[in-house]
Formats: sequence, structure tokens, C-alpha cells
Amino acid sequence: MTGPFYRRCGRSGVELPVVSLGLWHNFGAADPFATARAILLRAFDLGVVHLDLANNYGPPYGSAEETFGRILRQDLSGHRDELFVATKAGYDMWPGPYGNLGSRKYLLASLDQSLRRMGLDRVDLFYHHRPDPETPLEESMGALAEAVRSGRAVQVGISNYPAKLAERALRILGELGVPCLVHQARYSMLERAPEAELFPLLEREGVGAVAFSPLGRGLITDRYFHGIPEDSRAGHDPRFLRPVDVTEAVVEKARRLDGRARARGQTLAQMALSWVLRRAPVTSAIIGASRPAQVDDCVGAARNLSFTREELFEIDAILGG
Ligand code: NDP
Repeated sequence: MTGPFYRRCGRSGVELPVVSLGLWHNFGAADPFATARAILLRAFDLGVVHLDLANNYGPPYGSAEETFGRILRQDLSGHRDELFVATKAGYDMWPGPYGNLGSRKYLLASLDQSLRRMGLDRVDLFYHHRPDPETPLEESMGALAEAVRSGRAVQVGISNYPAKLAERALRILGELGVPCLVHQARYSMLERAPEAELFPLLEREGVGAVAFSPLGRGLITDRYFHGIPEDSRAGHDPRFLRPVDVTEAVVEKARRLDGRARARGQTLAQMALSWVLRRAPVTSAIIGASRPAQVDDCVGAARNLSFTREELFEIDAILGG
């Protein structure tokens, strides 16, 4: 079955592409601009109109937003309203007590900085990137609501919130009259924690889920079938995927999954995305890409989004084994 490429995000007026593009890696000032531009324009041409940024994507921090702003001005200035631009604040961004976590001061100042870097008047989605154990939740959620009321953001979301805290955050945002559009969590064949409590909560509440690192940062692809290539994430940017994370056991699982994917007429990356998207309330899988061809491949997942019970059983057996 060919699934539709856009899906409604929870109970909202927003539709998102099933495959979205994240700018965490490969869009920093240290990365070749021509490659970043080619990846982003390829994505746009394929209908991948939801772009996921954060204040601290780079390196250095802020530079992915600058790269995006440059491409927007240079190539996409007539297309702003065809794009759904998301950014976030919550991790460390600048020194001192006001550049991290979840205070109202940090969140609103960071959003202002993000808008300047991207050259935008407003973003389509502003997230609190992670919970802050010290700041009252009412203050962080109040800052998100203020972002919308002041016209700097159209919608708001939360990321990395565990289910219990997410439930409180959704209630507070509802009371403030600014419903939460989406929760963003790590979800992949290698990371299934959201299935237990988070997804049922979001489904009940009519909030969309977007899955980040749906390819396990590259581990659930054919990238490491023949060692660690120099130009791979583990090969050249081990900040978040170290060579030691590429274990023989995980590569062996990926090889076995690759066999299942081929039997479905998909690449392994495509099957990994289809698998993430099989699960309500997942609206979109946010991929990273180091070259345009990876975007082409990933978007092809939409051609086959359904699984038989037998396929799911076999995949579970491989993952569990
Ligand atoms: P993925 O799991 O999609 O990993 C991306 C990597 O997989 C690519 O860099 C590439 O590796 C490899 N890859 C992609 N497509 C293919 C393909 N078709 N065939 C083979 N290999 C492929 O996601 P990321 O970890 O990059 O995260 C995606 C986005 O999620 C981020 O950009 C960010 O926007 C968001 N995110 C949000 C977080 C949060 O806290 N809210 C945290 C982390 C991410 P290689 O580079 O080696 O070629």
C-alpha cells in the first residue's frame, strides 16, 4: 500500500511529511555549505517541508540556524510559507545561569536569537527541548505560551519529557489556551521506550509524536556493514556516535534486518522508517542526512508503510535476539 506523504499531527490543523529533515548534524559552520544546501534543497523538492532545528545545532552552537537562514534567503525566499520550521531551546547555549534549561528568561531570549539567526519573524513550532528539574513547569510552559501570544511562534511542543511530566505539561498548556502540538522523542527499532506510556498518553490527548534518530543515528542502515567509513558519523564526528557504539552485535542485527527489508522491496533505512511510522500516534520521523541520496532513499519509505503480522513478529525476533 502506498501511504500518503503527509499526516495530520494529533488533533490539529497541521499536517507533517512522514519523513522530516533534522539539521543537528551536517549543517554547522564546520560542514561544507554546498553539501548542506544540496541536502536541504533535495528534501524540499521531495516535499520534505518540515525542518527540525535547535538553538545549539552546529557546531558551533547556532550555526545550523545560520546555515538554514542563508539557504532560505538564497534559494527559498519565495517559499517561506511552504515550510514548517521548528526550533528548540533547553540545552546549554550560552554561559551563565540564563543560557540553559527552562527559565522564561532563557526560553524567550533564545527564541529571539534563533529568529535573528534564521532571518525569520516567527517559527512554526517552538519546543522546550528537555525538562528542567528546577524551574516550575508552569514557568517553562508559560514561556511557550508567551512565544505564541507574542507572535514569535505559531505552535509549541515539548521534547524528551517522560510521560508523567508530559501529562502535566499538556494540562498546563491546555489551561493557558495554547495546546501542545507535538512531543518529540527518540524512537527507533533500537529505542522503544515511548511505546509503554508516552505514546498511549499522546494518543489519548490528541498530541502528535515525532520520532528523532529513527535510524539509530545510522546504526539501522547499511552504513556500517563493511567497517566504519571515514565519512560516516561514527568515523568523523564521534560526539554522539562513537566507534565503540558500532558493535558487532548491532551490525549483525542490522544485517539480519536488511534481509527482511529486501524481502519487502525496501532498503534497510526505508524499513526502519516505515516501522517507526507504523505506530500511532507517530506523525513523522525526523531523519538526519549527510548527502542528498540519503534523503531520496529515506523518502522512498513512504511507498510501503504497512507490515504484515508475520513481518513484525520476525523483526521483533531479530531485535530481541
Ligand atoms: P537518524 O537516526 O536518521 O541518523 C541519521 C544518519 O543516518 C545520517 O547522518 C546518516 O549517517 C545515516 N543515514 C541517513 N539516511 C540514510 C540512508 N538512506 N542510508 C544509509 N544511511 C543513512 O537521525 P539523527 O540522529 O541524525 O537525528 C535526526 C534529527 O532528529 C536531528 O537532526 C534533530 O533534528 C533531531 N534530534 C532531536 C533530538 C532532541 O533531543 N529532540 C536529539 C537528537 C536528534 P552518516 O552521517 O554516517 O552518513
